[in-house]
Amino acid sequence: MANKNYEKIQYWREKLTDEQFRVLRLKETEVPFSGKYLDKKEEGIYYCSGCGSPLFDSDTKFNSGCGWPSFFAAINDTIDVKQDYSIGMLREEILCSQCGGHLGHVFNDGPKPTGKRYCVNSISLNFKTK
Ligand SMILES: [Zn+2]
Repeated sequence: MANKNYEKIQYWREKLTDEQFRVLRLKETEVPFSGKYLDKKEEGIYYCSGCGSPLFDSDTKFNSGCGWPSFFAAINDTIDVKQDYSIGMLREEILCSQCGGHLGHVFNDGPKPTGKRYCVNSISLNFKTK
């Protein structure tokens, strides 16, 4: 990781809001259909709200109906995928590869061309227009 502070829980407690801390560092999930970016359609880039790394382009955002912002592709090499058995079934967790922040999960029922559905907490994202 680029920044040694990213491994320290105290760094994140000070840097993040309580809500961001619970999702990014404790892997909680925001309430479905509550996120501020769910229906956002503007053109721009979604960055990690923990470290500012670019994660998703608005060109890949689609309405999945699942209750969280969904994308069919991530910006290259900015996301790590990890197996997650936390609810008793296998899911693929997605994390910011720069700071290790929890973003959400990726599923294989997305639209073409990738067939992927990156299901992401709005709290983990920070949108900026292009
Ligand atoms: Zn990050």
